[in-house]
Amino acid sequence: MLFQVILTTECNLECRYCFGEALKDVDADFPDFEIDYYLPNRIGYNIDSLDRFCRQDPDCVLTFYGGEPLLCIDEIRHILDNVKAKHFLIQTNGLLLNHLEPKYVNRLHTILVSIDGDEALTDFYRGKGTFRKVINNLKPIRRNGFKGELIARMTVMEQTDIYKQVRWLLDNDKLSFSSVHWQLNAGFWNDFTRRDFREWSETNYNPGVCKLAKFWVDQMENKGEVLRIYPFLGIAQSLLLDERQNLLRCGAGWTNYAVQTNGYITPCPAMWGIRNYYLGHISSTDPLKLKKIFVGEPCTKCNVFNICGGRCLYANVTKRWSPAAYDLVCKTVRNLIAATSKEMHRIRKLIENGRINLRDFEFMKYNGCEIIP
Ligand code: SF4
Ligand code: SF4
Repeated sequence: MLFQVILTTECNLECRYCFGEALKDVDADFPDFEIDYYLPNRIGYNIDSLDRFCRQDPDCVLTFYGGEPLLCIDEIRHILDNVKAKHFLIQTNGLLLNHLEPKYVNRLHTILVSIDGDEALTDFYRGKGTFRKVINNLKPIRRNGFKGELIARMTVMEQTDIYKQVRWLLDNDKLSFSSVHWQLNAGFWNDFTRRDFREWSETNYNPGVCKLAKFWVDQMENKGEVLRIYPFLGIAQSLLLDERQNLLRCGAGWTNYAVQTNGYITPCPAMWGIRNYYLGHISSTDPLKLKKIFVGEPCTKCNVFNICGGRCLYANVTKRWSPAAYDLVCKTVRNLIAATSKEMHRIRKLIENGRINLRDFEFMKYNGCEIIP
């Protein structure tokens, strides 16, 4: 099991798609849910109870999560020193990474760092100067002995040219990433009417994804290299293995859960504070017996459900976008699946002739890359 440990609800950035949206969404209520508005800002339970909880599962994987988890750097050190887990991961904006000593950084299996592309785009979404600070903090980590996976985690919306920005992250003169994942900011806020999602997704994003899928396979052909572009990697691996799973690819609610700052367990970090989805508490719940939560309609009636898996439990249950608006998101999913499927005959041929290997498509499942953006 994997647990995203929310160390704090606070953040040291005010990104457009998160802080900015939260401000505009301030009067958007959740009439169908009972909301807990009084969660502690920072981890408020004893770390021994997290250790006892985790020890019950020999495969317990913990991800430091927030807000910005590195605002709780002492707690991170304490957990790394005292909690027994199979692996530790972190999802961070990277701004405080330079404060965590290499002996701790090097114990992390994976670092998912939020970066949206080149300097102009990252700073547009995340604030001026963010890009440089993050890159400067990331540069020394390999030199200091970090051997894990470093994943560029993009948040994508209307200002993003997906083809250009993913290619930039993979190959640039500042810091090239070998792993890239992105998530669409779509369906998380009551913001569809003030956005231009339709136009952008149809004229820019969807064609960009098709072009990127072709580039991905061209690289396999030309260089014998399977780039770790997670949405393609996950879908192509499923198609190669003929895997059909009607389960969320992010793992939320069935293998991946979040632990709130007060120790209550929810299916995913985005669902913190929704009491209807409190599934237990780390002091009293057996991690291996946690209730499982699954997506409902429209996903369960969708003809690509067995590849998509439902995209997002939070979006599925909260329905912040109307069915017609969310259908545009589903069109992006269908496009991604079609773009990957279209390239499969080339991929299969490259595997057959030994240019690439099936093992090149392996990755740690549910590591924070949701596969379906
Ligand atoms: S494409 Fe849309 S409706 Fe279909 S399974 Fe995915 S999220 Fe659900
Ligand atoms: S995709 Fe949705 S359900 Fe899954 S982890 Fe992200 S917000 Fe939660």
